[in-house]
Amino acid sequence: MGRRRRRRRKIIVRRKTLPKVFTCPNCDSKTVNINVRKSEGKVVVICGSCGLQAEYEYNPIFHPVDYYNKFVDDFYEGKLPTPSKQVESRTISLEELSSEGEEEISEAEE
Ligand SMILES: [Zn+2]
Repeated sequence: MGRRRRRRRKIIVRRKTLPKVFTCPNCDSKTVNINVRKSEGKVVVICGSCGLQAEYEYNPIFHPVDYYNKFVDDFYEGKLPTPSKQVESRTISLEELSSEGEEEISEAEE
């Protein structure tokens, strides 16, 4: 015993109170996230609702809102591919599920 699990320290620094979620220029939902990936040197702006997204180079002097503004500009300039709405149309037909073999087996204990 005494084997300590190495815990990965998650350092979550939250000093910014700037809004992190923005309104999408495409679908108008307030679901645009700015993912700053400093380690990769890039920033991904993505709408969680319609999937509209863009990638930018990380710039230390930029604030999330700056990427967002770029994102909106690019969108209106037609630089961003408009995502086709992915409506999940999973239709499981109930008929298929329950058409066969639904015999109730009742065990009668005597
Ligand atoms: Zn959207």
